[in-house]
Amino acid sequence: MSTHKIDLKSLNCQQLEEFLSRMGKEKYRAKQILHWIYQRHVLDFEEMTDLAKKFRCDLAEQAFISSFLPEMVETSEDGTRKYLFRLDDGQTIEAVRIPMDESRATLCISTQVGCAMGCQFCMTGTFGLARNLRTEEIVNQVCAALQDGPISNIVLMGMGEPLHNLDNVVTALQILYLDDGLGYGTRRVTLSTCGLVPEIRELSRRIKVNLAVSLNASTNEIRDRLMPVNQRYPLEELLPACRDYAQTTKQRVTFEYILIGDVNNSIADAKRLVALLHGVRCKVNLIAYNEHQGAPFNAPSEESIKAFQSYLLQRDIVATLRASKGQDISAACGQLKGKFAEQSLN
Ligand code: SF4
Repeated sequence: MSTHKIDLKSLNCQQLEEFLSRMGKEKYRAKQILHWIYQRHVLDFEEMTDLAKKFRCDLAEQAFISSFLPEMVETSEDGTRKYLFRLDDGQTIEAVRIPMDESRATLCISTQVGCAMGCQFCMTGTFGLARNLRTEEIVNQVCAALQDGPISNIVLMGMGEPLHNLDNVVTALQILYLDDGLGYGTRRVTLSTCGLVPEIRELSRRIKVNLAVSLNASTNEIRDRLMPVNQRYPLEELLPACRDYAQTTKQRVTFEYILIGDVNNSIADAKRLVALLHGVRCKVNLIAYNEHQGAPFNAPSEESIKAFQSYLLQRDIVATLRASKGQDISAACGQLKGKFAEQSLN
């Protein structure tokens, strides 16, 4: 694709209006074009039949509309589907579609190629960061997965730390929210972060989105070990930022807590967690660590998972146990890419 042309999937509504006004066109044309791109999935200006022929030709000279086709799709026994996309520079990213029930599915998308955050329990962390995804590369994961059927919720929880790519992520969210486009309400999109405190505060000023924070520990000592980001933004800075986010946005913050055997799954941990979350409007998502070959940690015992959850519930903390789906096709973020890299080496 010619590099001087602009990809319309990189633009939010206002940016598209500005682009069109530079072409001497009226603002309302933006909505017409967004409708074609995101509701009709049209990639060729020729097919936008309610635009004048000359306008369509001018658009084709100055712009294009990118799309993704998955290079590899794996479907698990429980219906979870993983998509691997190859980007124009040869890098690969993944998205995962998780069926919730008959009619609903959640799509988990990536925001970076690799990740710089180095969380010890995460395979993506071991790759390091290659680069940020561009806005259109974030949006195109959703557009591609929609070809497989409706998606009710979107989570930015795949490869990468979304708040480490804040500008492109905010523009992508604006595109996902467009009434004339994909039309996702702000309550249907969740952004998951490892806890970049200044960016959490910045996010609340720029856009509405559900916030999930990967917490995984009740002391700085344990969190330092699991998540290097904690050395920069320890719990005494992270929790106030989460409390303020919940207050400003009037939405509960979700804390993700991966239960790891003999690391953070004792009742003493649960007790400290309750104290830590005091005064924060929140819920807790417990996830049992998924032990795999070469994994640095152990899975928690069934009894410890139940005891941990009960302890929180008895103290009026909403605590759900997230079923680990798609285990037979590489479960956690980054694992599909890892598997693909392995296959390429063989
Ligand atoms: Fe990055 Fe998320 Fe993996 Fe941490 S868990 S290394 S933030 S992708």
